[in-house]
Amino acid sequence: MPETPSRREGAVGEARMAEEMEAVIGLEIHVQLRTDQKLFCPDSTRFGDAPNTNVCPVCLGLPGALPTINEEAVDLAVRAAVAFGCDVHETSVFARKNYFYPDLPKGYQISQFERPLATGGSFRVRMDDGESVVRIRRIHMEEDAGKSVHDRFRRATAVDLNRAGTPLIEFVSEPDLTSPAQARAYLQQVKRVIEYLDVSDCNMEEGSLRVDANVSIRPRGSTTLETKTEVKNMNSFSGVEKALTTEIARQMEVTAAGGAVEHMTLLWDEVKGEVRPMRTKEESHDYRYFPEPDLPPLRLGRDRIETLRAELPELPASRADRFVAELGLPVYDAEVLTASRALADYFEAVAAQRGDAKSASNWIMGPVLAAMKDVGLDAGDFPVPAEALADLIDLVEGDTISHNVGKGVLRKMVETGEEAGVIVEREGLVQVRDSDRIEAWVDEVLEGHPDEVARFRGGEKRLQGYFMGEVMKRSRGKADPGEVARLLARKLEG
Ligand code: ADP
Ligand code: MG
Repeated sequence: MPETPSRREGAVGEARMAEEMEAVIGLEIHVQLRTDQKLFCPDSTRFGDAPNTNVCPVCLGLPGALPTINEEAVDLAVRAAVAFGCDVHETSVFARKNYFYPDLPKGYQISQFERPLATGGSFRVRMDDGESVVRIRRIHMEEDAGKSVHDRFRRATAVDLNRAGTPLIEFVSEPDLTSPAQARAYLQQVKRVIEYLDVSDCNMEEGSLRVDANVSIRPRGSTTLETKTEVKNMNSFSGVEKALTTEIARQMEVTAAGGAVEHMTLLWDEVKGEVRPMRTKEESHDYRYFPEPDLPPLRLGRDRIETLRAELPELPASRADRFVAELGLPVYDAEVLTASRALADYFEAVAAQRGDAKSASNWIMGPVLAAMKDVGLDAGDFPVPAEALADLIDLVEGDTISHNVGKGVLRKMVETGEEAGVIVEREGLVQVRDSDRIEAWVDEVLEGHPDEVARFRGGEKRLQGYFMGEVMKRSRGKADPGEVARLLARKLEG
């Protein structure tokens, strides 16, 4: 279709908009706490049980049933709050958030409103082009609702209340994020910290980490907050980034056409890749919050908060910094190796046993991560323990086996759980450095390829690599590559 002038002007207008305007984004992240029991009753929080089997009068909201607080959930929430630099308040108050929805049997959700558990934290987000600070407005505790199941019956929606009452924390950021890519990085890095803290399994497919994104646009340099929209229902990193990109473009279009962005709640449709207005249970934003009469205020002693702070593990950012400063790793390696706590532990154990961080890093970042991906396991349940990997690296670095043979041995270790030494012994993989044997292989190869030898001598020097490969093949990878190269050079040039 030929472009009409007005369409072209529109495109130019949008491009100018993109330059002159900036996005303002704040995320609300809901994280399911890793407890066996619900927040206010002892029912199981296990995922995937038969519908409506983990329920009791408390989470069903039957008359007369009284909630009692799960102290383990409180400890996890406090641990997260101190890790994100928040002030944890000695007194916080549970409140009822009232709304009607079929998956909410009580008719209200117990949350925290005016007096949340913690406020005023901050978090450093790292991107390739630098670091920025995102302020955390608050972290509060709340219970989850049940689940509406739309694909169980053909003409009806089913309700599963197993999830009702599951403990959550909600992280609310200040509107400090300025691009979809940054919002994604923030979310990924927050998730990594929560995993390090062991506060949640963060299983996004099972809904353990859910995100609502608030977004507006404003002229670059302005500090005014314009009307925002809220995009719900995102449960992947790419979903968050795509939904925000789509919604920002929509707001730019509305503004470029002289319109005003309307306050609304939108739903991200992952399949269609679009945001659409949601008929919402909170259109009026009137939850009629009031303090929960059946629970006393949540009181935490200073000692309890300080003990939880003292027990914090080393967090990924400082661990990565330490890998760079103390172990001399490149920043890139340090980032990859601190992706999960289990991987960082694995790396440190291998590096410590070998007294050499760089070789441990090279092995883990290359063949080991590839093997983990192949078998679908992460460092926590990888079948090759750190000591066994260190032994394998010893064999390679000590020239007992070649690097390539070592990679094959690693694959066998993954399959069989055997130690490197056992495999090398049984399969006769010890590197051959005996010049006579290597020379015999070299001679065989050169005699078998007279044409290539002639071309090499005629100037096609890149055939060196071909001969090298043939000799290594003949030796089943066992020939010492240095010796092969030396002999090839002598015989071909000579
Ligand atoms: P609401 O009353 O709609 O819940 P809040 O002011 O409580 O709004 O903020 C909720 C979230 O929206 C926070 O993460 C906050 O950072 C973000 N937010 C608030 N105002 C804006 C805005 N104008 N643009 C983008 N995000 C915003
Ligand atoms: Mg909100």
